[in-house]
Amino acid sequence: MIGLLGGTFDPIHYGHLRIALEIREALDLDEVRFLPCGIPPHRSVPGADAEARAGLVERATAGVPGFVLDRRELTRSGPSYTYDTLRSLRRDFGPELPFCLILGADAFAGLPAWHHAADLLGLTHIVVAHRPGESTEMAPPLAALVGGRVTARAGDLRAAPGGCVMWVDVTQLDISATAVREQLRRGRDPRFLIPDAVLEAIRTQGLYGRTSAMPPTDR
Ligand code: ATP
Ligand code: MG
Repeated sequence: MIGLLGGTFDPIHYGHLRIALEIREALDLDEVRFLPCGIPPHRSVPGADAEARAGLVERATAGVPGFVLDRRELTRSGPSYTYDTLRSLRRDFGPELPFCLILGADAFAGLPAWHHAADLLGLTHIVVAHRPGESTEMAPPLAALVGGRVTARAGDLRAAPGGCVMWVDVTQLDISATAVREQLRRGRDPRFLIPDAVLEAIRTQGLYGRTSAMPPTDR
């Protein structure tokens, strides 16, 4: 069973890395594939280009057992729809392997507006990570809206390639890429919100504004 964590990763931060690790452990996933999007469908232009964002994901995941960078969305033209990504993954991994698409609660709340929303659960399970500031009240009706069967048992996920929606409790880290970008823009030090290797690359490549004004990272 594999986990799929899509995102703009603009930049990747410890909020992403903790949900990937905790859900991998909770569900005993063989791997979590990080899928940086090329062109995000539902938001404004990212602060860094797709290759740079993927490079940051590569640094953050290097050497972590079970973390895999998957670049398939980067080379596709047009918006990076998760539906297309899932179909591409199904071609590679076959029809039977259970997939767990990992979403933060905010992303799950927006799911009904996604491209082919009603068809996603035919291709994957959805595992929702609680996120600070997001209410869970709307969760069951949302799951019903996209045709998911709500479950609390990992065994149900293993029993089928897709179709279930499951909530997983994770460490609540109130970190967002928006806040990290804002800190960088203002010349603040975002250490301890993102891995040092990611910050180093941001600084070397001059991403996200006034990074050159920041003091070097002690190592
Ligand atoms: P931005 O502020 O630019 O939207 P972000 O921090 O939300 O960035 P994304 O790349 O948009 O990061 O998120 C990718 C996925 O990770 C989404 O499903 C999102 O809900 C989830 N996620 C991101 N940060 C957290 C967090 N701190 N806790 C739980 N889930 C998170
Ligand atoms: Mg986001």
